Amino acid sequence: MDYLPLFVQLRSQPVVVVGGGRIALRKVELLRKSGARITVVSPELREELDQLARSGELRYVAERFAPAHLDGATLVVAATNDQAVNEAVSESARSRKIWVNVVDNPALSTFIFPAIVDRSPIIVATSSGGESPVLARRVREQIEALLPEKLGALARFMGERRKTVQSTLGALARRPFWERIVGGIVGTRVLAGDEAGASRAFESELRGSGHGLGEVYLIGAGPGDPDLLTLRAMQLLQQADVVLYDRLVPQAVLERSRRDAERIYVGKSSGDHTVQDRINELLVHHARQGQRVARLKGGDPFVFGRGGEEIEVLARHGIPYINVPGITAALGAASYAGIPLTHRHLAQSVTFVAGHVLEDESLDWRSLAGERRTVVFYMGVSHLDQIVTRLRQWGAQAAHPVAIVERATLPEQRVLRGTLESIVNIAREAAVQAPALLIVGDVTAFLAVEDRKMSHGALA
Ligand code: SAH
Repeated sequence: MDYLPLFVQLRSQPVVVVGGGRIALRKVELLRKSGARITVVSPELREELDQLARSGELRYVAERFAPAHLDGATLVVAATNDQAVNEAVSESARSRKIWVNVVDNPALSTFIFPAIVDRSPIIVATSSGGESPVLARRVREQIEALLPEKLGALARFMGERRKTVQSTLGALARRPFWERIVGGIVGTRVLAGDEAGASRAFESELRGSGHGLGEVYLIGAGPGDPDLLTLRAMQLLQQADVVLYDRLVPQAVLERSRRDAERIYVGKSSGDHTVQDRINELLVHHARQGQRVARLKGGDPFVFGRGGEEIEVLARHGIPYINVPGITAALGAASYAGIPLTHRHLAQSVTFVAGHVLEDESLDWRSLAGERRTVVFYMGVSHLDQIVTRLRQWGAQAAHPVAIVERATLPEQRVLRGTLESIVNIAREAAVQAPALLIVGDVTAFLAVEDRKMSHGALA
């Protein structure tokens, strides 16, 4: 270990920053978070530093660096672009036994700044010992994605209850108790922003009546590409003991769940139960056993996903749940196919329609067939010709542009473009299969038009 990581208490400590430019500013911003008393030494100051000086947030010495500027300092940072000045700062600091960092120059430094993930009071510091700051930052980014935004809140939540736990539980019981809090429903409640629910769950854990408290995470798995999972979906998938998933959730997404989690496929009907009844039963059953159940659904659970019905059942049984949104198929398909769903000149609104309930009287076909709007039909491939016929009956033009996006965001994604007149044949010839979406509107021809314009431009 070339460097020992330490966390230094700098509140109200005198710290000197030599330099008044962009890099000095970055260091000043960081040091301010620690509550240090900052002095900036530099003949010139950039705007932001000047403002901080004026508002009394830092002391400004408008001089070239001289060793006397370090008198009384706990720590010094050299952030100038003048090598000679940086060397002078380093040398004066060392001879006075003051910790010094010369930005991007480990050889002149007695300490270096780590890359930081800040979930105060939880702080993760990463360093490559000056060998590769880029790599250290990359590691930091990965950790950043892993740690929930509210981790700090969880640390505080537990900190506030330490004394109570100390006076209630014996020394041996405390550690397993805290493990249960962090890894269990109290933890997930705080991380989801529900401190009141967390408090209640905490109290029952402390009274010893908390055993058997399970919960359900209703997670949107997105349209297929596993990289489209949200960070919260990832975090909760790592916690869940059981994963209930259906047909639209691809293996690659499932792979992101905890290795030892029990995975249950709930896509097909069994016995004389309807699929949905069985799913509801399983959710309640596993949660009642105290398990953390991830209910993983394609796209977003609340867009043609029957998520509403499932939380109704959970609420009825008093089972706590957390909703995690997912990227719905229309958004994934549009993005990956390069189709902007709205566009200032082409479409002012977008409507998502379930294409298999054509007879539903609430559907306003006149309006769906109108201009300057985009309509996305889910579950519509097997009803494609009926949808086209309806739109034509209600006044849509034969040449109205449409696109079908099949297996959107997956490696096998196909995009077929056409018009209301041609799309039925195009789909038949291409043997389009579910899952696929039909997108209707001028936006589906958007890039094609732009391409033509560009090639005309190039020719002219
Ligand atoms: N809750 C899901 C929708 C479920 S309904 C969501 O928010 O996306 C199922 C329909 O969604 C399919 O019939 C299909 O029309 C559409 N769909 C889901 N995944 C898709 C994908 N990867 N590509 C194209 N369409 C998809």
